[in-house]
Amino acid sequence: MAVLPIVLYGNPVLREKSQPVAIDQSTKNFVADMIATLKDAQGLGLAANQVGKASRIFLADLSPLEPAEDVRVFINPQIIETSGSMEYEEGCLSFPDIFYRITRPEFVTVRATDASGKEFEVKADGILARVILHEYDHIDGKLFIDFFSPMAKEMISGKLKKLKAASAA
Ligand SMILES: [Zn+2]
Repeated sequence: MAVLPIVLYGNPVLREKSQPVAIDQSTKNFVADMIATLKDAQGLGLAANQVGKASRIFLADLSPLEPAEDVRVFINPQIIETSGSMEYEEGCLSFPDIFYRITRPEFVTVRATDASGKEFEVKADGILARVILHEYDHIDGKLFIDFFSPMAKEMISGKLKKLKAASAA
């Protein structure tokens, strides 16, 4: 297991539409590295392209908020259904120090495969639903700043420029 570098806004891989993956040993090793990376960053979620690989894999880990929670692995996920609407403040490991309240569905049903190759379905609400929707966007190349109002984008434009410059360096 290795902690991988997290790519920041400005890296083109964050805008890539990720491809489905086979559940083989290399995928399992990669998932183990993603888990180590997420734990190290103490984030709630991580998508594969945030560590530079455009694969349809993401993690959700509520343990920073609920110690009894375990990390959940979603490989080749499919959103089956969403409903409701909720405003919640989001951050993103690829956008350090940027937080913004975003409205997204309150409930989501997602089907995916876990790291052992088992298919599962989860009906999520609250923060877990929020993390799933945020991470699912990542693997489609969508970012939370896409939901920002023009005024909010204007307010963070300086921070975005810095991130872009840093990831080009
Ligand atoms: Zn993110």
